[in-house]
Amino acid sequence: MSIDKAVKELEKEQFWVVSYKFEKYSIIGVYDKDETNNLGPYQNMTYFIIDENSKKALVIDPGVRGKRGYLVKKILGIKDPTATVSHYHVDHWIGYGPYKNNRIYTSQFCIDVLTGKEEEGIVKVFKDGRLNWGHTRQVPQRVLDDLADELPLNPKLFWPISKLKNDFGVEFYELPGQTQGSVYGCMEADGKKILFANDLLIEGNGQLFIEIHYDFPPEGEVIRNHILALKPIFGLSVKTGDKELRGLLKKIANPDVLLLGHGPFDIKRNRDKAVTLILETEFGNNLVSKHTR
Ligand SMILES: [Zn+2]
Repeated sequence: MSIDKAVKELEKEQFWVVSYKFEKYSIIGVYDKDETNNLGPYQNMTYFIIDENSKKALVIDPGVRGKRGYLVKKILGIKDPTATVSHYHVDHWIGYGPYKNNRIYTSQFCIDVLTGKEEEGIVKVFKDGRLNWGHTRQVPQRVLDDLADELPLNPKLFWPISKLKNDFGVEFYELPGQTQGSVYGCMEADGKKILFANDLLIEGNGQLFIEIHYDFPPEGEVIRNHILALKPIFGLSVKTGDKELRGLLKKIANPDVLLLGHGPFDIKRNRDKAVTLILETEFGNNLVSKHTR
């Protein structure tokens, strides 16, 4: 089945689909709209980078739960896909089932959290951290039940992202982000820079927001990390004495296409909105750190 046909088929099956066609590859984003199966307000968008000739594929953040995840893989007709996970939050890996025969690639920190090696990790992230005062979005009970069934995940499923070699020209970087051990993917296609940037920004109900998680590092640091990664993406300069970090931030700077964990962000149309949010958040954070110093 061609990609165009597969997209139509997915739409018939209650998926919201976005697609980008480049000379060598197609990128398909799939979001589960089925309210009896999805993760409610936490449903993510799973991205598939597909070579239409060979049907080889790279999957970023498999988040379609249960049988519907297998259905997506079948409809796309992809062969031997490799999956990657951008951060350890449940919405970015719960649909790993169809991809578990290959290794799943993510940062070492995510592997440690998901396999229970990171001290207190699972309880802190999923039972307390995820559902603290900052997170007013309701998580359906079925998702919490999934977590109880799945965690800790088998360490044999995973491999560090630094070991991933693939044919799609995607480079992965570990950088500060919404969580510790966040992974960014960057590729060039038809002269365009495409950035997969986890949950740095979230759009929902027509609102744009930065969702701060205090799972591990102190509050101020999490906000600083968000801002540090967000500023170069929107063409704003950052100051850091860390040369390696500066180099990585340069790599994610000024993308033409920004694919966030919960859907694409229209940079051209909504840049100003994002910049205002980033600067306001930075200003607020500076005020807080001044008063607590
Ligand atoms: Zn998410």
